[in-house]
Amino acid sequence: MKGKKAEKIKKEIFEKYEEKTKGSRERDERAKRCLPGGDTRTATYFFPYPIYMVEGKGCRLYDCDGNEYIDFLNNYTSLIHGHAHPRIVEAAREQLQKGTVLGAPGDIQYRHAEHMCSRVPSLEMIRYCNSGTEATLFALRAARAYTGKDAYIKMDGGYHGSHDFVDVNVMPDTSGSELPIAHVERGVPTSVLNEVYIVPFNDLDAVERVLKERKDRIAAIMVEPVLGAGGGIPPEPGYLQGMRELADRYEVLLIFDEIITFRMHTGGMQALTGVIPDITALGKIIGGGFPIGAFGGRKEIMERFAPFHPENIRHTGTFNGNNITLAAGLAAMELYDQAAVERLNALGDRMRRGLLQAMERVGMKGQVLGMGSVIVVMWREGKTTKAKDAVDSVVSAGALPTLLHLEMLCKGIYFASRGMFALSTPMSEEEVDAAVEAFESSLEYLRPVVEEELPHLLRE
Ligand code: PMP
Repeated sequence: MKGKKAEKIKKEIFEKYEEKTKGSRERDERAKRCLPGGDTRTATYFFPYPIYMVEGKGCRLYDCDGNEYIDFLNNYTSLIHGHAHPRIVEAAREQLQKGTVLGAPGDIQYRHAEHMCSRVPSLEMIRYCNSGTEATLFALRAARAYTGKDAYIKMDGGYHGSHDFVDVNVMPDTSGSELPIAHVERGVPTSVLNEVYIVPFNDLDAVERVLKERKDRIAAIMVEPVLGAGGGIPPEPGYLQGMRELADRYEVLLIFDEIITFRMHTGGMQALTGVIPDITALGKIIGGGFPIGAFGGRKEIMERFAPFHPENIRHTGTFNGNNITLAAGLAAMELYDQAAVERLNALGDRMRRGLLQAMERVGMKGQVLGMGSVIVVMWREGKTTKAKDAVDSVVSAGALPTLLHLEMLCKGIYFASRGMFALSTPMSEEEVDAAVEAFESSLEYLRPVVEEELPHLLRE
């Protein structure tokens, strides 16, 4: 008899999903003929095929089959006000009518810059680009130009976009070696490894060990204040402060990648913790739903981007600082004030509590991480402090995350297949509670799968 119930439930879930999303399946088949995998982003794919969305309104999404979803993905945390917020649409429309890019600086750029510099403590000056990938690329370039050194320290499982120097140990090392063994993603030159030192997140000793030996080669430490794609893992008390002290002691720069964590406070995690980096990389929500990246920091580092500076750092980009993005972005930032941040963080706490209680009621082991309005479900017990722990969770959970994801999609809850939820300001307790309810009833339904295939996840 063993395994019978599980097989039946799995079959039911896939059938239900395929029945509900026929139009998406058709589109996926067609798209796959000319787009490898049917899309142009690795992250948006999930098994058996992703959903084709046709419209977003507030915190709701509508797919090509007419199904409605509450959007807890928010384009991987980049839409802080959900979809088509009237003030953001209006700001973008107003600019659109006057042209998109005029090949010259515009008023909206320094207004957005003034706004960002007034709310993020480390930002004395800022430059714009078109993605978070470019933001970390130029944050590193600035650090190298300023210090005259080439290498940097990166966290195992840290995600900073997809340029060569950061596409190292995005998947954490699982060899069990004392310091993580560095590896590049397929297609990235291995020579990159000469300039990147990998340490586990939340491990100050490892950072100090590397700095002691290699400080003459190292320009900077780059870290997400909360490990994002690596598992929503918050910093241990004193960790970020310790990073600042080590950077100062060994005369390297500290770079915060606040591309996700900026949403945690009006001034990002640096304002929340009082730990001020030398350089900050930004992106996602600051563009109001349009493509954006930005990097900034201390004046003496950033002023070298001025074309007339004697030690000028070249920074080009046809669409850098384009009017549409920055108009939408400024409207989004003005709407994301202290009250909005506090309300959203409180909703995040409610959701973390709710999901955890749901796990307990269903009798399953696990934990809920993340911080503020980003929530991550993890299928393991014990302390989770580094990216490798998150890998343990994936291994431990077997087919559960995929089944839970599809079942919750069928119940109208859209979120990242790896168990990440991001809130947006149009949400209220109603949406959060609906997600918790869907989570609990889905787990209840999946319990026989866990009993038969993953009994280690059951509470005694
Ligand atoms: N850094 C972090 C922390 C991110 O989460 C991301 C995107 N998920 C990036 C950098 C890259 O940003 P983009 O996708 O805009 O290139």
